[in-house]
Amino acid sequence: KTPAFLPSATPPTWLGVMGGGQLGRMFVHAAQMMGFKVAVLEPAKDCPAGHAADHLICAGYGDEQALGELAGQCVAVTTEFENVPAQSMARLADHCFVAPNAACVSVAQSRIEEKRFFTDNAQASGVLPAPHKTIASLQDIEDIADDLLPGILKTVRMGYDGKGQVRVKTREDVRAAFEKMGNVTCLLEKMLPLAYEVSVLAARGHNGASVVYPIAENVHRDGILFTTTVPGPNVTAECARKAQDAALVLIERLGYVGVLCIEFFVLQDGSLVVNEMAPRPHNSGHYTIDACVTSQFAQQARAMARLPLGDVRQHSPAVMLNILGDVWFEGEGNAAREPAWDAVLALPGANLHLYGKDDPRRGRKMGHVTFVAPTLAEAQDSLRQACAILG
Ligand code: ADP
Ligand code: MG
Repeated sequence: KTPAFLPSATPPTWLGVMGGGQLGRMFVHAAQMMGFKVAVLEPAKDCPAGHAADHLICAGYGDEQALGELAGQCVAVTTEFENVPAQSMARLADHCFVAPNAACVSVAQSRIEEKRFFTDNAQASGVLPAPHKTIASLQDIEDIADDLLPGILKTVRMGYDGKGQVRVKTREDVRAAFEKMGNVTCLLEKMLPLAYEVSVLAARGHNGASVVYPIAENVHRDGILFTTTVPGPNVTAECARKAQDAALVLIERLGYVGVLCIEFFVLQDGSLVVNEMAPRPHNSGHYTIDACVTSQFAQQARAMARLPLGDVRQHSPAVMLNILGDVWFEGEGNAAREPAWDAVLALPGANLHLYGKDDPRRGRKMGHVTFVAPTLAEAQDSLRQACAILG
């Protein structure tokens, strides 16, 4: 729908973002550094991106008037969260440039559509998703092939940070989990023997040019990203090339514009399996802020503004540690206490990023710290010390 001749949007014009979380906040910061003004649409007044934005439109994501205001003010709009109503992205596109578009966002929102997209493009990308089956009824549970178990039952929509997932060993487990999740349509995935996990960030411009960042190795704890290390200590050159090539094929096949993150599993036999994708900058890409020429957020601003994509070169090895609300509750007693940021900031190569959330809760992403150093070993050394300080 977008004419190819649409001109670039250059600063100091306005860019818009749907959602007011930390990804929106970091996008706002990056776009502002380039001289853009940024408007955020988000229902909560008190939100990480709202504190940084030039203009906060406080309204529901489906509010027609608010969408009109955002599209009227901005030359281009993006989203910072996966579950933005695709319909709202389509409405915005009637009035301004929207990247990623509603069709791309809706594929990523449904684990079924996402898996179908991966499967349909497996020949070209060279990677397959985990064996899986849609579970929408009790009959579907009866029909589960024996070799899909043990597995993980995942809600088709709205899952994140390991939420909406239950590990299952038997059909009886699947039945119980399906019921517990309110009989919503789920996807059963075979439990795979993971060696490690990686993710690849790619970006594509409206003119079809695309770039891919260095591959990141991710460690999760309780379903939530714990650390990202780049270069990953386990990642082989062959694995990196395969995952990066797959990401470039997939972003092209989607006709995607903007920053896209694709997660992969590397199995114990060395093979690569595509897990899921996020239609936005990603937690595992935060290292790009401090370790790459162009951060994933600056890249998103460039792509949506139809500017040339930025250099993805990494200039330092990096380790990113997520800071969850849990660390406010370390030590004695139940009262929340501010962690020792002075000690964290004293570590070599530390870059602290806090998201401006004043209500620490267990499992809540409050910030992250990225250690950059001349060698990976030095960055990892700072990480170890940070873990000791934060508990
Ligand atoms: P989320 O949307 O919560 O990130 P994921 O599908 O990425 O959901 O699953 C979260 C984590 O659970 C993964 O990073 C991985 O550690 C584990 N996991 C998910 N699917 C599988 C699988 N099929 N086999 C083994 N581990 C898995
Ligand atoms: Mg995931």
